[in-house]
This record gives sequence, structure tokens and C-alpha cells, in this order.
Amino acid sequence: THFGFRDVALGDKQTLVNDVFHSVASRYDLMNDLMSAGLHRVWKDLMINALNPPRSDAPFALLDVAGGTGDIAFRAAKAAGTGFRATVCDINSDMLDVGRERAMARHLDDRVSFVEGNAEALAFPDRTFDAYTIAFGIRNVPRIDLALGEAFRVLKPGSRFLCLEFSTVDVPGLDRIYDLFSFKVIPPLGRAVTGDAESYRYLVESIRKFPKPNAFAEMIRAAGFSRVSWQSFSGGIVALHSGWRL
Ligand code: SAM
Repeated sequence: THFGFRDVALGDKQTLVNDVFHSVASRYDLMNDLMSAGLHRVWKDLMINALNPPRSDAPFALLDVAGGTGDIAFRAAKAAGTGFRATVCDINSDMLDVGRERAMARHLDDRVSFVEGNAEALAFPDRTFDAYTIAFGIRNVPRIDLALGEAFRVLKPGSRFLCLEFSTVDVPGLDRIYDLFSFKVIPPLGRAVTGDAESYRYLVESIRKFPKPNAFAEMIRAAGFSRVSWQSFSGGIVALHSGWRL
């Protein structure tokens, strides 16, 4: 299947993913800036624009899954009004620890909370949240269909699912530069900054194996979402998928 890393089984894939993020947690934010030349900030802002959280004191509960060190939740909190609360859910305690420290440094710890959990089996009741976001996370989840089903389950009717993920570069010329960058620059850069080239080799392979935007949109529909759409940014390096639970 296109979800596995090389030929590892599903359970082993999660173990491998966990090792990757335990290994890189402390340098994760720095690596994002280096690898994307800061572009991940632009892509994340585009996601927050799409989310468009209310600027009022009306209650608004965001669930940010695979939220890692909190980037999406913090950005949303900055854009939102006083009624905003975010729950960052991630399977990896090291990433969450970094996130908690960052929340305190930003004085956002009263509005953003961090909980350990698996995207495939969320520990929240049905119809709890006003929005669900997942940024650069769903690619790491072994059974994407389960994660999408859980997203649908925990969303209130009338609320939105947004997924930011690496996609397929479709601009002639850029695709070759991107390949070169992926295979020749990222792993050595990963080794230099985190001491771990293998984790960044995983990153590159997992991007390649992720479904094409149309196929992924179909999976989102299959989970029950309506008005599914997507747009690609930066020549297809990333795509933002959107769906509504109606
Ligand atoms: N959303 C953050 C961002 O954009 O900076 C972090 C993205 S990071 C590339 C991917 C995250 O997915 C890691 O923190 C990892 O622990 C988490 N993850 C992997 N598998 C998961 C799962 N099954 N459930 C929840 N989180 C998972």
C-alpha cells in the first residue's frame, strides 16, 4: 500500500514514526525553518486564514491533531478572539513537552492545552469541536481512513475539517529541483542539525507515498465530509484540503 514506509507493517510504521519524532523533537522547529526556508510559516498562515476563527468572545473549540509543538494552535489563538480554546493532540510526549514550554513562553497556556493521543482513536466524545486541523500530520498516520473517521466523529455538525499536507509538485522544472533537494539536501541537513539522517529520509519517502490530492479528497468524502475541496500552494509542494461535517 502507499501508506507504509518501505515494507513495514502498520504497527511498525507507527513505531518508526514515533522514533522519528522522539529523535527530532528538540530541534523540530529549527529544522522546519531550515528545510522550508521559512515557507512552512506561510503555509500555516494560509491554513489559519482558511480556518478564520471568530474574533469575538463566542466559544470556539479547535482540535489540532498531530499538533506537535503547537504551531497551528498558537497561530489560531493569535488570530482568534477570547472565546477561543485549542486542544493539541499528539501521539508523541516529547513533541508535546516542547509545545507546553512554548505555550508558557507565549502566555497561551490558559488557552491551548496539550494531550497525548492517537489520531486513529481519539479520546473525545462525539460532536465536541468547532474545527479540526491537522498539519503535516496525516501522512504519518498508518490508517488514514480511521483518522478521517475520527475527525468526522468529534466535529459538531456545521463545522470544518482542514488538512495541510505535503503534496505533489506539478510545475515542470520545479519537480526536478524538488527531487534533488529532497534526496540530496534534506537527509544531510537532517544529520547536521539533529544527528539523524534516517528520520529525514523517512520524511522524504512518506511525502512521495502520500495519495495525490484528488485521491485524498475522495478519502475525505468517504469519511462523510461534504463540500470537499483543496488548493495547492507553492507549485504543489503543499496542499490544503477542506471539508465540512454538515
Ligand atoms: N502539526 C505540527 C506542525 O505543523 O508543526 C507537527 C507536525 S509533525 C511533522 C507530525 C506530528 O505527527 C508529530 O508530532 C508526530 O508525533 C505526530 N503523529 C504521528 N503519528 C500520529 C498519530 N497516529 N496520532 C497523532 N499524532 C501523530
